[in-house]
Amino acid sequence: MKVEIIAVGSELLTPSFQDTNSLRLTEGLNARGLEVSFKTIVGDDEPDLARALKTALGRARIVLCMGGLGPTEDDRTRETLAAVLGRRLVFRRSIRERIRARFKSRGLPMSASNLKQCYVIEGAEVLDNPNGTAPGLWLETGRHRIALLPGPPREALPMFENEVGPRLAGLGRGFSARREIRLTGLGESAMETRLKPVYDALPPAVNVTTLACPGDLAIRLTYAGAGPRTAAEALLDRVEEGIVRILGPWVYSRTGEPLEAVVGSLLKARGLTVACAESCTGGLIGHRLTEVPGSSDYFLESAVVYGDLSKTRRLGVPAALIDRHGAVSAAVARAMARGIRDTAGADIGVAVTGVAGPGGGTARKPVGLVFVALARERGTTVTRNLFLGGRAQVKFQSSQKALDLVRKVLTPAPERTYNKARTRL
Ligand code: ATP
Ligand code: MG
Repeated sequence: MKVEIIAVGSELLTPSFQDTNSLRLTEGLNARGLEVSFKTIVGDDEPDLARALKTALGRARIVLCMGGLGPTEDDRTRETLAAVLGRRLVFRRSIRERIRARFKSRGLPMSASNLKQCYVIEGAEVLDNPNGTAPGLWLETGRHRIALLPGPPREALPMFENEVGPRLAGLGRGFSARREIRLTGLGESAMETRLKPVYDALPPAVNVTTLACPGDLAIRLTYAGAGPRTAAEALLDRVEEGIVRILGPWVYSRTGEPLEAVVGSLLKARGLTVACAESCTGGLIGHRLTEVPGSSDYFLESAVVYGDLSKTRRLGVPAALIDRHGAVSAAVARAMARGIRDTAGADIGVAVTGVAGPGGGTARKPVGLVFVALARERGTTVTRNLFLGGRAQVKFQSSQKALDLVRKVLTPAPERTYNKARTRL
């Protein structure tokens, strides 16, 4: 059964506001085995909204519409849907009493503008709104189920969970079956080429989408067939296995976790600590590691050692070494990793030094050249990388590489696979 979401609000068509509600609604719909086919954003304009509603009703059986139920003149969703369906609006005294009581509890009189919220489309059920004045509406016609929800997230989202969710029971599969495999160190087209055998043999009930940004790839598998949950899970397991068999060396997560969380779990499981020396990443690695709750168990510090003098004073990198090789060099990266490991007293020291751009590149040291080093008791390794993209992409890929080096040294041998100096992503 196709679902369409319509977000109403002229502010959502400006650069300042985002329709975040529909993301949460989609999550709730997917969890019930319902997939969203279309999303529409439309301004507070009656003819436009009427067109959007007609289009939605022409192509979806379930239409969730939010926003424009407020007391002001430009809130016209209720009226517009009534007109599109050719139904009357009827006054409900019970709604007026509820709104009046809500105002009274704050010592205020109910304002006349709220009266328009007391009208209900003929045949609709009222959805309770404990967090605001605008009641929601639920309507079942021969062909459609339609919900009208308020726009503010703190009203719309609880109403969706508490009122709409139960009314959707039995319409979807009732469960969601999906997988998310995440990988790094491989380009998107290289991944696609390798996955061809999997795609060729893909069961029709499994949808695959890939999300790619430089340095990070995600493969999402969604079950889109009929049948019980056990069959869906078994099918997804099989496809997932096939993918991991091919892409194993680059896969860091089979549960959709970000790399920093995977690294955190590995460090925690082993009781090890990490510290970072960050030049061109400017603290990004530390930021990402500390995004994970509980990271104080294993993350000691990140020193942002941007200037040459800082590399020397903070980490003890010899000034002569920097003079000889330049700050962006394998030798300096190595010394930084050792320096942060020693001074922080960490089990693992990670260091990054590179040219993030857009300026500062030379023929020998172009923009995107980044050395990433990892020091541990057994020794220090350095990788030379040439990342593509703008400054933000170079920084992100550098942090990704650093975290992935940690992941690799902590991943148990049988699972460990070598990404042989494949440095160009
Ligand atoms: P209501 O249906 O309660 O009348 P409204 O349309 O009158 O809602 P607005 O004043 O337009 O309410 O919006 C209230 C707040 O809710 C604004 O901050 C707006 O950005 C936010 N909002 C509206 N729609 C969405 C949405 N789809 N996603 C996220 N925020 C939203
Ligand atoms: Mg609005």
